[in-house]
Amino acid sequence: MTALADAFGRRHTTLRLGLTERCNLRCVYCMPAQGVPLTPTRAMLATDEIEAVARALVGAGVDKVRLTGGEPLVRKDAVEVAERLGRLGLRSLAMTTNGLLLEDRLPALRAAGLTDLTVSLDTLRADRFHRVTRRDGLGTVLGALAAALEAGYAIDGPRSLKVNVVALRGVNEDEAADFAALSVREPVEVRFIEVMPFDGNGWDRAALVPMAETRAAIEAVHGPLVPRDDGPHATARTFNRPGWRGRVGFVASMTAPFCAGCNRLRVTADGALKVCLFGAREVSLRDALRAGATDADVVALVRRALAGKARAHAGMDVLAATGNRPMITIGG
Ligand code: SAM
Ligand code: SF4
Repeated sequence: MTALADAFGRRHTTLRLGLTERCNLRCVYCMPAQGVPLTPTRAMLATDEIEAVARALVGAGVDKVRLTGGEPLVRKDAVEVAERLGRLGLRSLAMTTNGLLLEDRLPALRAAGLTDLTVSLDTLRADRFHRVTRRDGLGTVLGALAAALEAGYAIDGPRSLKVNVVALRGVNEDEAADFAALSVREPVEVRFIEVMPFDGNGWDRAALVPMAETRAAIEAVHGPLVPRDDGPHATARTFNRPGWRGRVGFVASMTAPFCAGCNRLRVTADGALKVCLFGAREVSLRDALRAGATDADVVALVRRALAGKARAHAGMDVLAATGNRPMITIGG
């Protein structure tokens, strides 16, 4: 088996799988205000097809799969998908979720072998939660986080726990130090993400809170942050301080892109392979599977797509003016 390498020698070992385009929230930066036209169910990958894609890529060196969406737990068979992928011998089976439906499903997901859990939460204030997500639910998400800690999800343990915070100018930029306080108290990695442009999210450079600014806001309250060694493929630069149980991280996709270390492949809920989050080019693995593709055929398609993977994304202003799917249909 040769690695899934591209023309720049990047070996792709991580697969992000969108389980659905549906969501029980309407985050302003992700879901266009008018919603998205939903792809008919027959056009979505069936459970067997998801398993087939994952199995083929695991055979070619992928050792980490992250389930995402839309909201992955809105998909009725999300636990079954996790169970099936949990049997593929992955190093890491991860999920990114908004946490609303997590608490009930956590025991089954844990039993299925879910090793990495990321809960998205942009504010610790109930009124702001509605402003960002156009729905209520802060208490439920905080309850899910507590349940995850209780179930043994924690940084540096066998099952990791992260919180994703999209930093938004004029919305939550004043909460950076409060979120960092969570990392002081609990063994979680709180990651601040620079907001990225996608179709229909009304991206505006003015909404971006650069990593440097969020870091300074945290340091003003908690003191100087100490950098950690994150390795070559990390999307986040992480930091902590003596005495902290957790740490903070910054995903600076806009001000400090990490394309050079990118090892990620994406497959959307309707089976489209994207070799770059920001690349509009797609290959339908669903159509290939339905035409009888074997594991080897799937891998060959992925290799061909990887051969055309760009060295780096085009920069935020070009991206903002370029067509791509809305984030909700890509799978973050
Ligand atoms: N529904 C799940 C959730 O919210 O965690 C999984 C899907 S969501 C698309 C995955 C991650 O992408 C979330 O942490 C979300 O905050 C982030 N995200 C969505 N749109 C974004 C944008 N425009 N810029 C930066 N991050 C974004
Ligand atoms: Fe839903 Fe996640 Fe997008 Fe928010 S970020 S609308 S929770 S898919």
